[in-house]
Amino acid sequence: AITTIGFIGLGHMGGPMTRRLVDAGFAVQAYDVVEQARAAAVAAGATEAEVLGAAARGADAVILMLPNSQIVASVVGDPGLIAALAPGTLIIDMSSSEPMKTRELADSLARVGVPMIDAPVSGGVKGAETGKLTIMVGGSDEDVARAWPVFEALGKPVRAGSIGSGHAVKALNNLLSATHLLVTSEAIVAGRKFGLDPEVMLSIFNGSSGRSGSTENKWPNFILPETYNSGFGLRLMLKDMKIAVQLAEQAGAPGELGADAVAVWERAAADLPATADHTEIARWLAEKT
Ligand code: NAD
Repeated sequence: AITTIGFIGLGHMGGPMTRRLVDAGFAVQAYDVVEQARAAAVAAGATEAEVLGAAARGADAVILMLPNSQIVASVVGDPGLIAALAPGTLIIDMSSSEPMKTRELADSLARVGVPMIDAPVSGGVKGAETGKLTIMVGGSDEDVARAWPVFEALGKPVRAGSIGSGHAVKALNNLLSATHLLVTSEAIVAGRKFGLDPEVMLSIFNGSSGRSGSTENKWPNFILPETYNSGFGLRLMLKDMKIAVQLAEQAGAPGELGADAVAVWERAAADLPATADHTEIARWLAEKT
């Protein structure tokens, strides 16, 4: 059974996920390049890993919660990490990575006897804090079964398919989520100009067929109050949309809308600071009109 976990990437999501794992009784060895992020994990009850290898040493599983596939590959390929892995240590990539890169990475790890699964999440910072993430799991039955109790401490795991399938469905989910947020924002900006009250619009959408996570959560909680503090960056959302559009193209099903939605988010990303929250797409749209 998995009892000791190396956790790498202690940001908006990895920070609260580390706390949940500690509270569930796992021994967590926490590493991030940012020193304050490591200190916060120690305050939550984790052991500090001052170098990458220290997170992996003696661990039954190593969880990655990093920005993207490129960083995942560089961390997993780090000689310090590889040298510290015990035989059979399971690598679990919970980042929103690129499914084809995940398959390549899993293949190269399999050649040196290291098993890997993918398990990206949905539910945001709130879901991470409250243990209510949806966890989309790809990999072999045997490896997934080992990790299942870890996932149950973080939320609700769902089997997606073979290795890379979790990352594929996660990207597709975020293409939906980003497109919903864009069109919801267009509708509310237009309705406001017409003279409609945004709260009235949202309550009607939420009782009608236009409802989505954008009308039920993002608009009322982060956009109307003008806090824009969902904790999910605009550039991370754009990354996920591009993964989904590339997946569709490679699958021979390029679609009509996805690439156009990406182009709009690209323009917003070019206008907004690198730290912008993804909900700021609504403010960007409103300011353009
Ligand atoms: P974040 O930027 O807040 O955190 C990433 C962390 O990784 C940072 O603390 C950073 O210092 C660390 N890091 C970067 N390079 C590193 C390296 N080489 N070694 C060690 N640590 C390194 O990002 P986040 O919002 O926590 O997102 C993490 C992943 O989860 C992304 O793939 C994102 O798309 C996905 N995701 C985010 C949310 C959300 O609501 N924020 C929801 C679902 C999925």
